[in-house]
Amino acid sequence: MTANILNGKELALSIRKNLKQQVEVLTNKPCLAVVLAGDNEASKIYVKNKLKAAEEIGIETSLFLFDTDVKQSELENLINKLNEDKKVNGIMVQLPLPEKIDEKAILNLINPVKDVDGFHPYNIGLLQNGSDKAVIAATPKGIIRLLENTSIDFEGKNALVIGRSQIVGKPIAMLLLNKNCTVTVAHSKTQNLESLINQADIVVSACGCPKLIKGESLKQGAIVIDVGINRIDGKLCGDVDFESTVNKASFITPVPGGVGPMTIAMLLENTLIAYQKQNKL
Ligand code: NDP
Repeated sequence: MTANILNGKELALSIRKNLKQQVEVLTNKPCLAVVLAGDNEASKIYVKNKLKAAEEIGIETSLFLFDTDVKQSELENLINKLNEDKKVNGIMVQLPLPEKIDEKAILNLINPVKDVDGFHPYNIGLLQNGSDKAVIAATPKGIIRLLENTSIDFEGKNALVIGRSQIVGKPIAMLLLNKNCTVTVAHSKTQNLESLINQADIVVSACGCPKLIKGESLKQGAIVIDVGINRIDGKLCGDVDFESTVNKASFITPVPGGVGPMTIAMLLENTLIAYQKQNKL
């Protein structure tokens, strides 16, 4: 058995093409404000890619740059200003923020309607309620789209989520639960991870441990979503050992080219949805 590759790059491209067509017909374009503070090199690359992708589909962007020694009050003032600015439809704060900044306080200040990352407690609460009005964080939303693309019946499937972060693990676990999967969430204190992997029909790994999941641990025919972005000797790899898994899984996402491109596409989709809500379209 050789797994089907879940090509996130291809799916993301078709989503972006569709979004572009929707933006093209709008007289006033949606606007995404991006806040980047500090000098994290990976963050700079992520922001550059997000801005480029937004501009490609006709979304206007504003970038707000701050040094590592930015004050909490400066960021809070900016968020308040962006919340008030009628031209701005979406606010995205690139994480992590510099160490001395209270990250939660900044995220909680964003108007939930402009919270295109879906990190505000209001949107997390809506997600927990299973509401279709929730703004869902881009990475978990992209993962669900990839899974939907396999045409699997989610109901009753054993889903294992490895990782419990606010941005990936917890929201994807909730989304899978809302789809009637039986969900297990593993983390760094979990015992018997191997046996949990072995029982799972769907494995979503977001722990940032290079090649932690090997083919021999998997149930035959499992669907494997690899969120991890890691490097071994400078070479990009996921949390899944692709070579040993590709002959055991039924579907697998590659790294790169799986979840990553979907994350960007979903951020753009969330920005357009925010625009539509604010303009009552
Ligand atoms: P975090 O560091 O916030 O969370 C990692 C989680 O993994 C924690 O819950 C941690 O447990 C758990 N964990 C760590 N080691 C193990 C282990 N050995 N076994 C089981 N669980 C473990 O990371 P993020 O959620 O932000 O990101 C996870 C990975 O996904 C990273 O590689 C990141 O780069 C990537 N990523 C990719 C994105 C994409 O678009 N492709 C988007 C976002 C992230 P505990 O809570 O106990 O510490």
